[in-house]
Amino acid sequence: MKDSLGKPTIGLEIHAELLTKTKMFCDCLNDPNETHPNVNICPVCTGHPGALPVPNKKAIELVLKTGLALGGKVFSAGRSKFDRKNYFYPDLPKGYQISQYDEPLVLGGELLGVKITRIHLEEDAGSLIHAPDGSLVDYNRSSAPLMELVTEPDIHSAEQAMAFTRELQLIFKYLGASEADMEKGLMRLEANISWNMGTKVEVKNINSFKALGAAIDYELVRQKKVIEEGEKIMQETRGWDDKNLKTVSQRSKEGAHDYRYFPEPDIPPFDASAFNLDVIKESIPELPAEKRVRFASEFGLNEIQTEILVNDAVLSDYYEEAVSELKQAGVENGAVLLFNFLTTDMLGFLNKMGLSLVTTKIKPVFLAHLVELATKGGVTTRVAKDLIAKIEEKGLDPHLIVQEEGLGVLEDADLIEKTIEEVLSSNEKAVADYKAGKESALKFLVGMAMGKLKGKADPLKLTEKIKAKLS
Ligand code: ZN
Ligand code: MN
Repeated sequence: MKDSLGKPTIGLEIHAELLTKTKMFCDCLNDPNETHPNVNICPVCTGHPGALPVPNKKAIELVLKTGLALGGKVFSAGRSKFDRKNYFYPDLPKGYQISQYDEPLVLGGELLGVKITRIHLEEDAGSLIHAPDGSLVDYNRSSAPLMELVTEPDIHSAEQAMAFTRELQLIFKYLGASEADMEKGLMRLEANISWNMGTKVEVKNINSFKALGAAIDYELVRQKKVIEEGEKIMQETRGWDDKNLKTVSQRSKEGAHDYRYFPEPDIPPFDASAFNLDVIKESIPELPAEKRVRFASEFGLNEIQTEILVNDAVLSDYYEEAVSELKQAGVENGAVLLFNFLTTDMLGFLNKMGLSLVTTKIKPVFLAHLVELATKGGVTTRVAKDLIAKIEEKGLDPHLIVQEEGLGVLEDADLIEKTIEEVLSSNEKAVADYKAGKESALKFLVGMAMGKLKGKADPLKLTEKIKAKLS
């Protein structure tokens, strides 16, 4: 969107719950799937007087890992510390949130051309459950480790914001830093939106990528109208109303001074010497961008096929293993065929059966051998597809099943001859139709013969033979 007002300037704040066993400052379980309220709590995470917080080293390492993966500078202040951010809310039992103010763990970094301002570590609040006769509070999430990533206002459209957050979610998952599941609230988005770096409005309560795009587009149009009517944009916090598809004013925006930040007195500052940054760096896996390039060049997959794999770690691991088995079986150019077999026939079958790549008995090597049989002509394509169910049922290599059940391509010329005779003599109308020029009649006759031969005949040769007989 470009305009007389200049260009939209959008910055994002992204919160992600870290994937740790325990909470940020105590030994309580950090379990976002716990459904019983107030079971994973203790005096520390419910703010009892005198309870002392002890930082979770793993949580700090995950933020450092994320920062390094995104090209940021860790411990750029030479050290890092926690600060108290003071405010009242019923889901915040201490009356303050332990966060990081002026010495975040990570400064800088970049993703998809968008500059990252900082990444810091803080604790999450509990959750409120609003009922008709009052509100309930669950402190299971209270003090769970939370990473906050802030970008520069480098984003200029809703599409760009959506692409950035999608890629970031994928990276969080690849790094094992966060499950980043938006539906479970494990990744939460906020956008600071303005025209041409003017007064910015913060939009909260965005629960999906789609909502992010819609909120940005709505807010840009709203602000444009306000400006064009000669009014001033109010610096405020607005919420996204997903039902009525609009932003709604919540409160005038508070500044940092309103929170009376001060250094957390119970946790001393710390520096890089407590962490092995080389080990953390080495633990960064191949990231989505690198994987896209490698998959396209190594396997000859197109953009859509590559994206399907890059977005699903289980699927791409399975695929890679199967391709390497296929190479070992001596089939060099089967990677695309294997992709199609896997994502269409095999996943279709598994879905139908309520199975998944994790629970299936079809090992990657079995799928590779199935594709080998199909490409080297050991079985027909139709038999290959039927074999998927048989491999699942027996948990055996398809070579064995083909041998045991005699499913190889039919070479018995007499049987084929006899079957064709039978089909032609019992389908006089189709024969007459074909002779009268109706091509589809031939397909019908081939289908009849193939059915009698249980799909095991080579379809091209069968078609040729029937054609020869009819001419
Ligand atoms: Zn606790
Ligand atoms: Mn925050």
